[in-house]
Amino acid sequence: MFDFLSQKFSSLFSSLESSKKLTEHNIQETLHSVEQALLEADVPYGVVQTFIAAVKMDVVGQKITGALKPAEQLMMIVEQKIVEFLGGSDAAFSFSFPLTVMVMGLQGSGKTTTIGKLAYKIKKDAEKNNTVRRILVGSVDFYRPAAIDQLEVLAKQVGISFYRAQSNDPVMAAKEIMFFGRENGHDVVLLDTAGRLHIDNSMLQELQEIDALLRPSHKILVLDAMTGQESLAVAKAFDDTIGFQGAILTKMDSDTRGGAAFAFRFVLKKPIVFVGEGEKVTDLNVFYPDRAAERMLGMGDIRSLLERAEEKVSAAEHEKAEQALKSGAFTLQDFADQMAMMNKIGSLSQLLKYMPGMGLNISSEMIQRGEVELIRFRAIISSMTLKERLNTTILNNSRMQRIAQGAGVAVADVTKLLKRFEEAKQYVKI
Ligand code: GDP
Repeated sequence: MFDFLSQKFSSLFSSLESSKKLTEHNIQETLHSVEQALLEADVPYGVVQTFIAAVKMDVVGQKITGALKPAEQLMMIVEQKIVEFLGGSDAAFSFSFPLTVMVMGLQGSGKTTTIGKLAYKIKKDAEKNNTVRRILVGSVDFYRPAAIDQLEVLAKQVGISFYRAQSNDPVMAAKEIMFFGRENGHDVVLLDTAGRLHIDNSMLQELQEIDALLRPSHKILVLDAMTGQESLAVAKAFDDTIGFQGAILTKMDSDTRGGAAFAFRFVLKKPIVFVGEGEKVTDLNVFYPDRAAERMLGMGDIRSLLERAEEKVSAAEHEKAEQALKSGAFTLQDFADQMAMMNKIGSLSQLLKYMPGMGLNISSEMIQRGEVELIRFRAIISSMTLKERLNTTILNNSRMQRIAQGAGVAVADVTKLLKRFEEAKQYVKI
């Protein structure tokens, strides 16, 4: 998310930090570079101008040139303004139950996938609070032939109910789905609607009719972040005709430059409630303006990383890893367990995105090499016997050759793993 801006801003501010004093001139220069970066990220021109003017007002107001650590202060002002632009002072969005959500969006924006993700999230959040939600999903997308079957598959995967309407008139089918939900005690109904490739009057009219008839408690718009400024025009059209409470921006994991996400709150005056960051049902995240701003400025997002870790790694695994670290007898088996635990939280490139300053100095080639190395290490360790994993000193030449052959790697790779393991052990001792 916001990788493009994160790379731009990180290098901008890190070079500024090295200059001890800030002059009028380098403030102007920095703000000009911020402006350029936002324009390159496809933030609409008017929004960029408003943003820069707002930053300048604060810079003048706070007289930062003579201040202590002026570069940090300038960065803080920019950060605060980004948070404001992304919706910082909004009350946190929350669903209330019973919940009926009409999910709208253009075809291909990721509506159906997002419904699967939303259902998964609502289910998991309820479980965390020791509640059970009865969730139903249904689709009136007769426009895209595979959409309804796709939703049925997703429902099975998430473990929630699915209802296929008998009618093939979208308004009647929506009524049927809602009725089925109510009659069968569901307290969450997520309705997938039909999109079109572009904004289209018949689509909007159909949605208006469904809305008027069913009065869903929430209307959520799904937008493809990859479509850039175009998605803002789409959102305006939906807002003018039907209205919605918030948006979900999908494909934020792709190489979108993030301009639409940056401008969304400012242009539409509505929050981005979630962002889709992958194709799996687990890839939906709450959008936090302050965390997004921190990531944009290369400060990382440790809070989200910890939450992710908590979600994906069980308490028992956590405890086991901590014990291994504390005991001082750190074996290759523990090393392997920890690699497996990390892998559950995310790929190396996903994890690094949460680390401070990482937008800046690690090339994608290095990350790729690291990922390949981790896969190789896992293969090597799985070719070892338990005895070998618990005591690496018994690894003589012939054992190493057998292991290398089993893992399909060179003996040098086995030696490399052992070296890495020894380094990790040093860390543990500290
Ligand atoms: P719909 O026509 O709006 O229902 O769109 P779909 O749900 O079928 O999604 C269209 C495509 O986008 C599918 O290939 C999805 O896997 C993909 N997609 C949806 N959300 C995301 C996301 O957050 N990240 C990525 N990378 N792909 C996504």
